[in-house]
Amino acid sequence: MTPNRTFAERVEMPAYALPSEVRLNVSFEFFPPKTPEAEETLWRAVQRLEPMAPRFVSVTYGAGGTTRERTHNTVRRIAAESNLTAAAHLTCVGATKDEVNAVAQDYWNSGIRHIVALRGDPPEGQSGYSPHPKGYARAADLVEGLRRIGDFEISVAAYPEMHPDSPSLEGDLDNLKRKIDAGARRAITQYFFDEQVFLRFLDRARSAGITVPIVPGILPVTNFATVKRFSEACGAGVPRWLSELFDGLDEDPQTRRLVAATVAAQQCRVLQANGIDEFHFYTLNRADLTFAICHILGMRPSGAVGRTAVVE
Ligand code: FAD
Repeated sequence: MTPNRTFAERVEMPAYALPSEVRLNVSFEFFPPKTPEAEETLWRAVQRLEPMAPRFVSVTYGAGGTTRERTHNTVRRIAAESNLTAAAHLTCVGATKDEVNAVAQDYWNSGIRHIVALRGDPPEGQSGYSPHPKGYARAADLVEGLRRIGDFEISVAAYPEMHPDSPSLEGDLDNLKRKIDAGARRAITQYFFDEQVFLRFLDRARSAGITVPIVPGILPVTNFATVKRFSEACGAGVPRWLSELFDGLDEDPQTRRLVAATVAAQQCRVLQANGIDEFHFYTLNRADLTFAICHILGMRPSGAVGRTAVVE
């Protein structure tokens, strides 16, 4: 804020004034449902978010490939029954190259052209990752393998706070560069709660010669305890202020949702003000928070009256 601006001038600049044209791209991440009820919930979320015209929507692959069939079915249903571009997550862990290639080939044959290529985590109870003796060792190897199967659009993971297995920030950036050099066209980040962390990471990545889009992964937090536990495993920092915001709300899911939307929207607005125009939302198969945040960012469902986001 300019220090010599009068209070009246400040009033003329409401925090939520949007530029006349909102240039934004979004993508939404879902997980494959386990039950018919969960499938219903997912499908409602897909339909609610579809009018936001995301660049793509992606479906995760369960640890160790445990959701192989469900991921495949969900991706195929989205592709068949909506106008959305569906992307499939695929991991290396616990499978031979032949098995992974067969899954990828199946996607290619079904017209799925976008893969989020990942190493994956070791199965629960196993400490430390070790590659399958006949498998792709790491995500960079998987990217190379996918490129031999078809001209997939490939996205990979990035870690603003460093992957927990990485020896250093530089080593992690080298790994990201290997994945891009192998043919990935976009990096999607692990979630984070400090925008400065992401912006510094972006600077470092650009200095390291990584020029592809690096899309911030946004997680609207509704269950603080779960996120805290998960963050310890994946190396995402959880600031004290976040824990304080959720203090006393364990039995109050409605307020938790309002807080979640407020925090995530504010995070996106700060990034937007710093020139970030693409976001990847971890929806957890719920549409309402993500829809609200997109609305706050200035996006409007296609066909709706009002300012429409320009999708490039
Ligand atoms: P890699 O890029 O292979 O890197 C893993 C680690 O190994 C890094 O620390 C890297 O620095 C290090 N490394 C790589 N190469 C070398 C080398 N040659 N020498 C030494 N160290 C090296 N998991 C799932 O199971 N299913 C999903 O659907 C899924 N979706 C995800 C989506 C996003 C956007 C993100 C950010 C993560 C997702 N994950 C998913 C989690 C991911 O599988 C884990 O974080 C996993 O531990 C690392 O995967 P990666 O692709 O980043 O691995």
